[in-house]
Amino acid sequence: MKSIDQYARLVVRVGVNLRKGQTLVVSSPIECAEFARSVQKEAYEAGAREVVFRWSDEKSARVTYDMAPDEIFDESPEWLKVFLDGYSDGNAAFVSIAASDPELMKGVDPKRISRKNKANNVALEHYRSRLMSNRNAWCVASVPTEAWARKVFPGKPGPEAMEALWDAIAKTVRVDQNDPVAAWRAHQAALNARLAFLNGHAFKALRYRNAAGTDLTIALPAGHVWFGGGDDIVGAAEPYAFVANMPTEEVFTMPHRDGADGKIVSTMPLNYNGNLVEDFWFRLERGVVVDFGAGKGVEVLKEMLDTDEGARRLGEVALVPYESPISKMGILFYNTLFDENASCHFALGKAYPTCIAGGPEMSKEELLAAGVNDSLIHVDFMVGSKDLEIIGVMADGSEVPVFKHGNFAL
Ligand code: ZN
Ligand code: ZN
Repeated sequence: MKSIDQYARLVVRVGVNLRKGQTLVVSSPIECAEFARSVQKEAYEAGAREVVFRWSDEKSARVTYDMAPDEIFDESPEWLKVFLDGYSDGNAAFVSIAASDPELMKGVDPKRISRKNKANNVALEHYRSRLMSNRNAWCVASVPTEAWARKVFPGKPGPEAMEALWDAIAKTVRVDQNDPVAAWRAHQAALNARLAFLNGHAFKALRYRNAAGTDLTIALPAGHVWFGGGDDIVGAAEPYAFVANMPTEEVFTMPHRDGADGKIVSTMPLNYNGNLVEDFWFRLERGVVVDFGAGKGVEVLKEMLDTDEGARRLGEVALVPYESPISKMGILFYNTLFDENASCHFALGKAYPTCIAGGPEMSKEELLAAGVNDSLIHVDFMVGSKDLEIIGVMADGSEVPVFKHGNFAL
């Protein structure tokens, strides 16, 4: 079996863990059609009722940003909402293939991009909140496109770069191993040990420090829960687990939306909607970004932070050892799916309501009162380094090392 088919099988069987009779919606760039078709076949073999496609083409998207009249960037087409709300309310599973050219939108007015995203995120709020509270199974996967592969391996000609990126991806999702499904089970067991440590201590705060300049304390809300690897579907007649990202190496929860003080310095570039932001930092007071800077792409960062009130607050804290398998490969992927699994990170914007006890059943007001951030954005950025130290503060004020020299202290 080719590894492309093994990855497709993993995404269907372990990723969305497709149920018999369930509909699968596949969002894919046209360049990844071969992989998308492989997912389709695996899905029917797993008993799918129907596999539905949502194709995209980033090159024509770029033409739209360059040439379309200004007013369309505040609109989201009605059909898209009908499509996604309909399938999510019908309990479909969703596979997204993320493989964009990291510099696709270089030179495009960042206001156009943020307006368009905002219009889509407002229109698709129902669908997004269903996925973010685990009412639908979803999985993000990636396969190489030529533009992306060239950016990751600039020294190699196109076909060689594609092959090198494909080999790297195969390794990160363990399809290079004899029994990838068994390899994922072993991986989940390792993540479970970290979850037991973090959930067992129920820290009220985490303190970060490294030589890059990060010096930050975040508060964790009462009732927060750490997750990693799989998630349990919420509200299904028969509960089952799914894995939302393939690869995944992180364990994560939410910071309290009012509880971050100090400076965070990013340690990897951020690919935000086809624009690169490099060498950036944030200063936070009582949870809010009050100052920021970047060596490159500062105006993109500003547009992102100005999306709404919650865009300046943290919605995710994730721990990944500096010596995680993806990190050890030493490849900068310029793709959040991989880079976030090579480094400790935070996200600005919306928090996953599942990360607090009872969260999926809480109203918007109750979530805010519990410290759960809300926003139209959720953007991960990396802060891990080989000298990162993290101290956990217990309810009684005692301190427990969580990270030493960039890795788990347990
Ligand atoms: Zn994350
Ligand atoms: Zn995230």
